[in-house]
Amino acid sequence: MVNDDCIFCKLANGVFETNTLYEDDDFRVIFDASPATKGHVLILPKEHAANVFELSEETASKVFVLAKKIATVLKGEEVEYFDIKITKVDEYSKTKNITFVIKDDALLRITGGIVQGMSGSPIIQDDKIIGTVTHVVIDNPISGYGIFITTMLKEGEK
Ligand SMILES: [Zn+2]
Repeated sequence: MVNDDCIFCKLANGVFETNTLYEDDDFRVIFDASPATKGHVLILPKEHAANVFELSEETASKVFVLAKKIATVLKGEEVEYFDIKITKVDEYSKTKNITFVIKDDALLRITGGIVQGMSGSPIIQDDKIIGTVTHVVIDNPISGYGIFITTMLKEGEK
């Protein structure tokens, strides 16, 4: 429920303009207008709650998951993981075995796509490392290439 007298409800639901970092059905995450530290953000639930005890259990539990994800992204160079979708697999290519697009909205809002520091990042599927990021598609920064870990190992033996 939204409370008409509540500034946080207005911020969360887009009544006031905000510098939005992330938004989904339950939350809006905004950069603080007067940040205490670099990357200081506010996680605003879209349902009104006077304090954390008024949040539904479901919403409260989502806060922590979201906070952890945002914190990971805000570390900048040290982005530890992000969601990708593999769009093409070519087992015979030397360096472009995997073609992928970034699916992570929070990451895209901050970086605009794949950034340099991501080269060499592991590509993980079902908890196994299947490859590493090698290239960015210059004219389409949300897309990139990866090399199979098996291809890398073979090249290393030569
Ligand atoms: Zn409110």
